[in-house]
Formats: sequence, structure tokens, C-alpha cells
Amino acid sequence: MKLSFAAILLAAPLLASAQARPFPGPDVPQIYQRLLPQIEKIPMFDHHAHPGFADDADVDAMAAPPGSAALRERDTNPELVAAAKALWGYPYNDLSPEHTKWLIDKKSELKRQQGIAYFSNILDKLNIEQGVANRAMMADYLDPKRFVWVFFADSFMWPFDNQRETARNSDQQVYIPLQEKMLHRWMQHEGLAKLPANFADYLAFVSRILEDNQKKGAIAQKFEVAYFRPTKFSDPTHEQAEDIYQRFVSGGIPSEQEYRTFQDYIFRYLVREGGRLHLPIHIHSAVGIGDYFNLSESNILNLENILRDPRYSSTIFVMIHGGYPYDRQAIWLAAVKNVYLDTSETEILLYPSEFKKLLKQWLETFPDKVTFGTDCFPYNDALGAEESYWLGVQSTRTALAAALAEMISEGEVTEAQALQLAHGYLHDNAVGIYQGRVH
Ligand SMILES: [Zn+2]
Repeated sequence: MKLSFAAILLAAPLLASAQARPFPGPDVPQIYQRLLPQIEKIPMFDHHAHPGFADDADVDAMAAPPGSAALRERDTNPELVAAAKALWGYPYNDLSPEHTKWLIDKKSELKRQQGIAYFSNILDKLNIEQGVANRAMMADYLDPKRFVWVFFADSFMWPFDNQRETARNSDQQVYIPLQEKMLHRWMQHEGLAKLPANFADYLAFVSRILEDNQKKGAIAQKFEVAYFRPTKFSDPTHEQAEDIYQRFVSGGIPSEQEYRTFQDYIFRYLVREGGRLHLPIHIHSAVGIGDYFNLSESNILNLENILRDPRYSSTIFVMIHGGYPYDRQAIWLAAVKNVYLDTSETEILLYPSEFKKLLKQWLETFPDKVTFGTDCFPYNDALGAEESYWLGVQSTRTALAAALAEMISEGEVTEAQALQLAHGYLHDNAVGIYQGRVH
């Protein structure tokens, strides 16, 4: 060996088609510094977020039960001070109650001044061109030119007496009544005082809601079913589901097995309708909040039988939060042509140094199937959707620049190819799903 290891690393970027190396070179920090400002200039499409104010009950179709927050998600996270400084010029270095009051006052003053432009201005500050508003209903304070609606479709799976479902644990005591409320709102939209007496009419009601929501501008249907039951769906017949519906539509508590069988059929019906209407399916596929969220029963691989079912090949699936912590398995589901992975929430749960590793592995495997999202949420008046937008965007950009810098330094991609991957991940891959309905 005549050349030193460092000399080989330095010479390598000049080689057009050299073999990839297992170590990044000393040039990673410089490449990172070159990439980051270029990445900041890419207008983004936020594929999963819950914009809205903390006092708006429609930002989600469920609510948060008490439970443990991971270190970075606690309100002691000093990055929240950085967010407040970047967004509002916050003059303090902590979030003590008296200082937080400054923040709350500042935001309510801007809300008053800016009206419908308030959240659009947040997008402008962060260079988000357009973003999903995954909400129970759309808000009149979000500009429809900048925010596209993704509605919740879970409630169609809970039409019966839910006493047994609600009693399972204290998380379900929070969740299930909200599903009942959501179903009743859909019924009101269709002028139904009670559920249709026969199953065919129930399915027609479900389809009408999907079609009406699409006419109102919805681009996808979202499931957070992993919070409420296992995500393994069996394949019951129409007759089985119909029989259960007829027996329980006007009262009586189905056994757990009967309820699951009915839900399995409805879930598959919604998936089929998603294909017919070109209304993609967004599914919460990662760890969740609450003390009773069951990781093994909601493992993203439970959905493999659905994702690889040729009957659903015209339905697009977006695996929201990318199956974390089963992200290494999840990326192989993106081998299916109609399956995409979204990185929202993961970039907040993890610090950028760790998120970089996840992103690098995904971009090295199916880069055209990975999409960006913030999962912003109005946690409270001080830590609003605004600050969580900021944290999601900053975390994603820095981790992305670092992952790509390593890939360039290791001889996997050129700098031009790396920027193509960045455009795909931050914007083009997601926008391509919706056939011109988003930009
Ligand atoms: Zn979310």
C-alpha cells in the first residue's frame, strides 16, 4: 500500500464509478456545510401534520391520555427555547411561566393581526410550500391554498355498543367515545338520525362520506387504528360482516371476536374504496402515546398481508411515521409499488444524530418511496403547532444533510444525485402520489 488511507479518501470523489467505501472521509463536515443551505432552499411538502390552535378540538379525532413522554418530547427540551427565538424573537433563555406568558401574548397578538395568513406565514418562514392538515374537520383559519385536508376514517369501524371496547383500559376510555362522536358527526353530515337498518345501506353511507370529503378537498383518509386494536386484519366474507351488522346495529354488545371480524371487513372495504376513488390510505404505523399502546400488536409488519395483497394494488398506502421502531423492517415494505413511508414524528422522537442513520438506510434502499412530514401538533399554548413545525423542519434538514454528506463521502452517490434525493424526499415523492391535487 503506497497511498495512505486519508489520501485514498481524498482522491475518491474524483473517481466517477469507484467502489463504495465503508467509512466516510474527513470531508463530511465540509460536504454537510455545502449541502445544508441548498437543502434549506428546497420548497417542501409536509405529508403529515396537525396544524391548529391548542384550544381547537378538531386538530385530531382522538385525544392524548396520560403517559410517559420520551426525553426530547418533554417540555424541558431546551430546543423549544431555540424554536421560540427563531420564530418570534423570544428574548429569554428559559420557558419559566412568567417568560412563557410573553410567548403566549406574542402569538395571540399575531393571530389577531394576521387571521387566515397566520399559519401560512409559519409555512413561509420554514419554506413549506404546502402541507397536510390531518384533522377531524378543516378549520376556517387555515388557508386551503396552503393546507390540504386528510380526514380520519377509523370511526366507521366502531358503530355498535362499545361498552366492552371502552372498558379495556384507561386509554380506550379516552379514545372510543371520541370515535363514537366522529361517527355521529359523519351521520349528521348525511342527515342520518340513526344507523341504516341494513348493511348495504351502511356501506353506501361510508362511501358517500368518502366521496363528500373528497369533494371538500380531502386528499387521503387516515387511520390511527393501532391505538384502538391490533393491526392484523383477517379476511372475512361480506356475509359474515353483514350477519354481525344485522345482529348488533340496534343494540347488544358483540363479542370481541365478532367486533374484530366486522372491523376487519370494514377496514378492507375502506382500502378498496381508497383504490376506486384514488383516495390514498395513511396509517399510523409507529409507536404511539398512552400507557397501553401495544407495540407488538401494532407492529407495521402486521399489515404486510394487506400491503402485499394484489386486490389492493391500485390503493396507495402511506405508512405514517415509517413503522418506528421497526424502521429497518419497514423500508422493505416500500418494495411494493403502491407503498410509501413517511418520516414524521420519528425526526422528533429521535435526535438528528440518530435520525440521520434511519434516513441514510432508507435513502440507500428505496429513496423514491420516502416522504417528509413534521407531525406538528398544538401540545399547549406555549409549545404550539408552530414550534413543533420548526423543530420537525430543522431536525429533518440537518439529519438529511448529514446522511447525504456521508453517502457522498463514502462514494455511494454524487453531490448532484444527493440533491436529487433531497428533492424527492422533501417534496417530489409525496406530491407525485396525488395526481395534480397538491403541489
Ligand atoms: Zn400525527
